[in-house]
Amino acid sequence: MQISRRALLALTAAASVSALGAPMFAQDKGTIGISMPTKSSARWISDGESMVAQFTAAGYGTDLQYAEDDIPNQLAQIENMITKGVKVLVIAAIDGTTLSNALDNAAAAGIKVIAYDRLIRDSGSVDYYATFDNFKVGVQQAESLVAGLKANFPDAKPWNVELFGGSPDDNNAFFFYNGAMSVLQPMIDAGDIAIPSGQAGMDVVGTLRWDGAVAQARMDNLLSANYGDKVLHGALSPYDGLSIGILSSVKGVGYGSGDLKMPIVTGQDCEVPSIKSIIAGEQYSSIFKDTRNLAGVTVKMVDAILSGGEPEINDTATYDNGVKVVPSYLLASQPVDASNYEEILVGSGYYTADQLK
Ligand code: BGC
Repeated sequence: MQISRRALLALTAAASVSALGAPMFAQDKGTIGISMPTKSSARWISDGESMVAQFTAAGYGTDLQYAEDDIPNQLAQIENMITKGVKVLVIAAIDGTTLSNALDNAAAAGIKVIAYDRLIRDSGSVDYYATFDNFKVGVQQAESLVAGLKANFPDAKPWNVELFGGSPDDNNAFFFYNGAMSVLQPMIDAGDIAIPSGQAGMDVVGTLRWDGAVAQARMDNLLSANYGDKVLHGALSPYDGLSIGILSSVKGVGYGSGDLKMPIVTGQDCEVPSIKSIIAGEQYSSIFKDTRNLAGVTVKMVDAILSGGEPEINDTATYDNGVKVVPSYLLASQPVDASNYEEILVGSGYYTADQLK
């Protein structure tokens, strides 16, 4: 068969590499708008990088934006993506309740919306949800807290514990808290765990915008008001950024030196400073959510949507956003502590051993 010179040139151009190093055909399937909440936490940077890499490999262009935890900023970025005609929007919301108008505009323009990791609430214009089993994350945090209390404070029952919640504008925060309390509440009721401050419930223990400084200040207050003659044995922390703040607070009043052992502090996301803290014997545990897999599920969803198929989902009951139950794909998370961080994080190639030194 003879291939015309023109066809040959076209093929060569399609397979060549652009000045930016991305294959020229990367844009062929259209652009996907990716709206992420903030770069202040490393996990969202990994999410963004994994998605760009995987969308590019699947033949899509990407418009990746971070809103630095500013709601009007995220809205403007999403509106802009809609105007530019992205094919699908992938959104990890700052505040899951504030996007309704923008999403209605997206729906009117025929743009499907995937809620990424965090459920978007109060909108009928959310098509799918890609996330982890968030209730299970909370269960794993509490189970790890209890395991740590048993191992490090075997004779101290009832264990004195304080509770921290995530941001009340993030639907996940309630799932993490409820999952954790499904383990802790029976132990509180049985008298095995005491909460010296008496502070419980997301309305009291929530931490707006997942801000570590807010958690640190709250821990300072809890310690000075309730621990004059008591020892803190543990803190339920739903996110590594809060755990680092809580640990600074307890170290500030002498925990971790002399006779005062470090309390058991949990976490989530396996961010590098927290894994280093776990290795140093300070933070007790974290939860690994492999953002590469979440990106992979999302790319598959987009591909299915744009080729007229049905994305694979594995949960049609859990995530009611106030308007509809959003069809979801839930991934599994893994508890990480000093005993398994190497195998799970370095073994899977998520981090190099050098990054954790
Ligand atoms: C995510 C967590 C993260 C938290 C703070 C939540 O929505 O599911 O992985 O720790 O936000 O960024």
